[in-house]
Amino acid sequence: MSEGSFPPTAKRFEGVGFSEIVKVRNRVMELLAAGQKVWRFEGGEPWMNTPEPVKAAMGAALARNHTRYAPSSGIPDLRKAILDKVRDRNGISCDDEAPIVVNGGMQGLFAAFSTLLDPGDEVLMFSPYWTPIVDLIGYHKATPVLVPTDAARRRGLAAALAEKTTPRTKVLYWNSPNNPTGDVFSRAETEEVAAFARERGLAIISDEAYEDLVYEGEPSVAIGSLPGMGERTITCFTLSKSYSMTGWRLGYVVAPKRYQSAIKTVVLYTTNGVSTPTQWAAVEALSRGTEFVAEWREGYRARRDRLVAGLKAAGFEITPPRAALYLFPKTPSWLPSDSRAAARVLLDEAKIATVPGIVFGQEGEGHLRFSFSVSDEMIAGGAEALAAYSSASATPGRR
Ligand code: PMP
Repeated sequence: MSEGSFPPTAKRFEGVGFSEIVKVRNRVMELLAAGQKVWRFEGGEPWMNTPEPVKAAMGAALARNHTRYAPSSGIPDLRKAILDKVRDRNGISCDDEAPIVVNGGMQGLFAAFSTLLDPGDEVLMFSPYWTPIVDLIGYHKATPVLVPTDAARRRGLAAALAEKTTPRTKVLYWNSPNNPTGDVFSRAETEEVAAFARERGLAIISDEAYEDLVYEGEPSVAIGSLPGMGERTITCFTLSKSYSMTGWRLGYVVAPKRYQSAIKTVVLYTTNGVSTPTQWAAVEALSRGTEFVAEWREGYRARRDRLVAGLKAAGFEITPPRAALYLFPKTPSWLPSDSRAAARVLLDEAKIATVPGIVFGQEGEGHLRFSFSVSDEMIAGGAEALAAYSSASATPGRR
């Protein structure tokens, strides 16, 4: 290198996107800064605050001076609490070393993909999907291979996966309940995919971020709990949604022996663990099981139903999703069918913030994502703004 020339950024970043959802949020911030009222449905986090006992546990940890280095894979009390939880509640059979504490679901997923992917490997995943996943795969110079969910469910998941499997296929990314659709795969579907993974010798990365947010019907089944699956599944959990702790950055991975050391190495050389007082708060959270989320579930359901009613009144066709935090309807006839254009029109003209469906893959095009995990006031005001805007749009000559 000569003076005045600079080394370029590493090639692994080529083609790796930076969240489009963040771009929507930035535009919302601009509008808010300009003094506008914005009806915000673009987010993706619980609407209530972190429970008081969890906050108090962090305070108590600070008072006890639990502020020093901890083992980078997690404090023993937390790893034990995780072990009990995944064995009892998820039914995952694993060895005592299986739980590894990470900085939120995102670091768990990063570590899981890092553990498994070499350049050129292929990852099967259903679409629509949570956007960062294709970027995590791209970062490792591997290829996401998309399997459209609706079509696959109609013809059979295993047949649809088989069609996209090649000698380079190594991993299947699995996310149930799903962001953005709120769908939950049934036990039978989960068993079908597990059998497929066993037959083809694939590893599974299972993203359980919404495991506790199922409002009706059968609960979600952890694919890693099915016979023979513990050995080939890295399961990624987070406290973000289950305990309303998005900003704390606390998650955990449960991995079979063969992958534990790679995951621990990623954690060691990236963050060297999660902040010690945060881990003590997590011990308290997990000791409460599903106590908090059970209290919140009714509130989520009510919000979902109110927003569904608001969207229907404005001409959206929608069936309420069974899980997660989102509605993912098709754009109605009074909006552009291109989802980016539809989201832009809604934001600029009606001050309603949503996420364009295309962000979640080609199968999301023609849809908008609305989070129903917002205040009652936001749902009421947003529904009113939507109704007013839709009827104005439908009146000839108005727009
Ligand atoms: N997986 C999915 C499907 C998600 O929607 C999210 C958060 N939006 C995560 C993982 C990661 O959550 P966090 O990093 O906040 O724990």
